[in-house]
Amino acid sequence: MKRIAIAIAAALAALLAGAHPASASVEGYTWKHVAGHWPVVYVENHTDGRWSLTEAVKSWGPGLRLGSCRAGAGCIRVTTPARGNAAPLGQSFIYATGSTITGVDIQLNRSDEAQPVSVRKVAAQHELGHALGLGHDTSYRGIMGPVAWGYDSINTYERKVLAGIYGI
Ligand SMILES: [Zn+2]
Repeated sequence: MKRIAIAIAAALAALLAGAHPASASVEGYTWKHVAGHWPVVYVENHTDGRWSLTEAVKSWGPGLRLGSCRAGAGCIRVTTPARGNAAPLGQSFIYATGSTITGVDIQLNRSDEAQPVSVRKVAAQHELGHALGLGHDTSYRGIMGPVAWGYDSINTYERKVLAGIYGI
């Protein structure tokens, strides 16, 4: 069982710190699925509604469903612990056996709830992207860039890479 931590920091925080947060790739990790079909993964929402999680889940398409985790399906739990302003906006803790994801805990930092709603939404989308198996886009041209950088929607390339991961 591996535990992989991935973080996204606010662009401003990264600029102030003068450095980007460490990045990690999750390429090669996927949910169990039938080739050519999306996995069945439920996103259990434990947020207070300030992170546009419902919208973020829908934006990734049919691989993610909002609802309680259940046996026989993948499970992503999203919580909002207060981790202080120096901590990342969001972090994904991905559990895997071999290359198969067995569960993901996403933590959205309650201490960042003063961030603009657009930033919070991107943080949720970004972490869900990791939870589906996407790594960082080091070109910064999308929401999978290592920091929140003003992109507010998933781009065609990101959708294509995700579909490719699942053979769709
Ligand atoms: Zn990230």
